[in-house]
Amino acid sequence: MRRIGIFSGTFDPVHIGHLGAAQVCLQALQLDKVFFAPFGKPLIRQADASAAQRCEMIRLTIAGHPGLELSEIDLQPKPRYAVDTVGELRQRYPDAELFYIIGADKLRDIPGWKDAARLMTMCSFAAYPRAGYDASALCEDLRDHGAHVRLIPAAQVTMSSGQIRAQLRLLSDAPGRLLPQVAEYIASNGLYQPDYERMVRQAVSPSRLLHSQGVRHTAVRLARLHGLLMQKAGVAGILHDCAKNMELGRLQFIARQARLPCDAQTMGSNALLHGPVGAQIARMRYHISDAHILNAIRYHTTGRAGMNALELVIFVADAIEPSRKYPGLGLMREQAQEDLRLAALTSLTGTQKFVKTKGLSESPLSLMGIADLRARLRHPVKEDLAY
Ligand code: FE
Ligand code: FE
Repeated sequence: MRRIGIFSGTFDPVHIGHLGAAQVCLQALQLDKVFFAPFGKPLIRQADASAAQRCEMIRLTIAGHPGLELSEIDLQPKPRYAVDTVGELRQRYPDAELFYIIGADKLRDIPGWKDAARLMTMCSFAAYPRAGYDASALCEDLRDHGAHVRLIPAAQVTMSSGQIRAQLRLLSDAPGRLLPQVAEYIASNGLYQPDYERMVRQAVSPSRLLHSQGVRHTAVRLARLHGLLMQKAGVAGILHDCAKNMELGRLQFIARQARLPCDAQTMGSNALLHGPVGAQIARMRYHISDAHILNAIRYHTTGRAGMNALELVIFVADAIEPSRKYPGLGLMREQAQEDLRLAALTSLTGTQKFVKTKGLSESPLSLMGIADLRARLRHPVKEDLAY
């Protein structure tokens, strides 16, 4: 007889605790498979991420774990009750023994669920321990109601999706709680943050938005590759060009009003001034207070001496994002995998050559940036790349 576990939930987002509990259930109960079944429309709290996004995060989490599968059984436009889910599984797998996987924190609620008595005849419950709950006693209470209950010998799950959402809002990647590939997906799609993409869409052209999305995606990928903070890279990436489509007069007005310390050359060029003014707009309109993000936006047009890792990530991502097309891009993309400083130096020197051939004067900030990067590359220090 097949033995199947069903793990229903909102998974907003799915975390390492969910993965661990499912793996222990699989082994301890000798299950053939465990289905992760996200709710299309959760009963209590509206999910922040869409059903499709929550499914994708589950796919990323269970990839490479035999026996763990995504089920779309609960992806319905109306709330689903456990008795509906289990009833449908029972029809699909009439001979299987079904285990409803649940955290110990929810055991007390089960007798109050819809058609609880019938549900208890249709499946067993597999409870995993949760911090702050006496799982053994709660299992015993549920048995008194006539349910079959197994307590899973898993370590206590101490994390919750709610805590992780709070961490993400503070621009943490929730290490040890989220798998890196899930944190990358979240940063790359701007989940669990204010909807900066919608705000930027109102401020820039469609092609600029596409570029900004490309920069966000590339910046997050580079951040993960180099062990840097992905959520910060994502926010800086989507916002970096928020002032790009403003007319020069408007940029100059904002720069003067805010008394931004810009040299004459920067003040005279949209291509340079949208960096410092973009940082100002990010601060005032989008309420960004993180100094690293603001500096990454401020200096993405010129670079500067002493760029930190996030500044380098955005500077390089801006140069190599997927929609870019110019000679030498392949080399820079390779260099970005190896060393962000090297890729940034290649980009800056390329721009310097271009500016010279056009007979324009070079940005002092860029020249100082080039000298600084050359020095840092001669004597590379690992801690150089952190933020
Ligand atoms: Fe730009
Ligand atoms: Fe850009």
